[in-house]
Amino acid sequence: SMDYGPAPEAAGEALAWLVDRGDTFGHFINGSWTAPGKGFESRNPATGETLAMLSQASADDVDAAVSAARKAQRKWTRLSGHERARYLYAIARLVQKYSRLFAVLETLDNGKPIRESRDIDIPLVARHFYYHAGMAQLMEAELPDAEPLGVCGQIIPWNFPLLMLSWKIAPAIAMGNTVVLKPAEYTSLTALLFAEICQEAGLPKGVVNVVTGDGAVGEMIVNHPDIDKIAFTGSTSVGRKIREATAGSGKALTLELGGKSPYIVFDDADIDSAIEGLVDAIWFNQGQVCCAGSRLLVQEGIADRFYAKLKTRMDGLRIGDPLDKCIDIGAIVDPIQLETITRLVDEHGGEGEVYHANSALPETGCFYRPTLITGLHTSAWLMQEEIFGPVLVGTTFRTPKEAVELANNTRYGLAATVWTENINLALDIAPKLAAGVVWVNATNLFDAAAGFGGVRESGFGREGGWEGLTAYTRPKTKTKTLAPISPFAEGKDLAP
Ligand code: NAD
Repeated sequence: SMDYGPAPEAAGEALAWLVDRGDTFGHFINGSWTAPGKGFESRNPATGETLAMLSQASADDVDAAVSAARKAQRKWTRLSGHERARYLYAIARLVQKYSRLFAVLETLDNGKPIRESRDIDIPLVARHFYYHAGMAQLMEAELPDAEPLGVCGQIIPWNFPLLMLSWKIAPAIAMGNTVVLKPAEYTSLTALLFAEICQEAGLPKGVVNVVTGDGAVGEMIVNHPDIDKIAFTGSTSVGRKIREATAGSGKALTLELGGKSPYIVFDDADIDSAIEGLVDAIWFNQGQVCCAGSRLLVQEGIADRFYAKLKTRMDGLRIGDPLDKCIDIGAIVDPIQLETITRLVDEHGGEGEVYHANSALPETGCFYRPTLITGLHTSAWLMQEEIFGPVLVGTTFRTPKEAVELANNTRYGLAATVWTENINLALDIAPKLAAGVVWVNATNLFDAAAGFGGVRESGFGREGGWEGLTAYTRPKTKTKTLAPISPFAEGKDLAP
């Protein structure tokens, strides 16, 4: 059918975009491109081929980006919310205009199925800019006492490259801040295309700056003295370092970190729906999702039936060329990540029973089969730690009380899913779960208007919604001097 199979002409468009730019990129600073410097390769994880050469930012590059952002911020903050909104609307429209190019470039760079980048990531990116354009317009009326923080350093991971960029940039610039953003080193290409879109939208130079490079560049941003806020999404270990580095510096900070989110299925659940939800929870984006439902808790009475159905469903998942519209599981982002997943399952899986889906694997490229591990002790390494890959661990519970205890037996607290036909049970359980987001009979629901973020070691601060705006503003108390009142001045009698 027309709708299936690889789409080479679409890949051609994205590859042509790279070729037009000499397959080499500098940084986007103060509205223009620096000459490419010493750097590193960005590769397609499905094929291993090099897509482009990227530059590793130097301390001077970061300095230049921060001072461009500082200079731009003085003017940007003086625009009205309505004026800023016009730029966000223009960006949103251009994201839609180039949505196919964005989706294919994202899939080539990251390895995620084109169905996901095309139908989920890129539309949500546009939604974030539209939503925050609206919020910029409301700012004077609804947040009259809020003022921007200033220059924001934003550091993002590789699992949702453009989507994480939009979660960071849209609220920041809507509220009058300017930005120095560093994409993850594996997946910088859509951030660079986005920089071009800022130019096309006529965004004033310096409002958005993009510097590329690895964690060392991230550290330079974190430690830069002229940055007012750090927004970070990534691993809990790096988040901890950033918290230490910014302590006492006066920099504002939000951290969106890892997770080991429980997916709880009660015995009265609609099992087929719960299985489909679980496929989405743990195999969406190859499980490289911070809020992945990576810990299945299933009520004892239905466990055997549930596992059997799940394995059948796993065997039906198709692994392959991420540009192929009919595949379910794309490539793992990088050989290093594939190695980590393989090692974790090999080292610790033996404590339980490991089931790999019998889907066919492509001959080359970074691919890993959907995997289920059962029979682990609740304190086992794989039950506690984030794998960040297509690996689900499962265990059983007897009572709702035990489900809550198991669910909360983690240092994380990003998301949780509850599956039951009994709404009273769901409403009883949901508030007891240590999680920033709880989904009932659904999973992975995101919207720009809904705050997203964690508790415990999953971080703090929210992105999206009103809460997300307050993360990019500070309240300012305004006092006004009234005409002096003195009982003696005009001989007035103040008695009522
Ligand atoms: P990572 O922490 O290794 O890297 C994230 C970003 O930080 C990258 O841009 C990297 O270059 C940079 N970085 C690395 N070391 C740094 C340092 N010392 N100082 C400053 N920046 C540094 O994480 P990752 O492997 O890219 O991403 C996976 C992790 O991100 C997972 O743990 C996942 O759960 C988490 N994540 C969380 C959310 C969320 O919203 N909570 C969303 C996506 C991913």
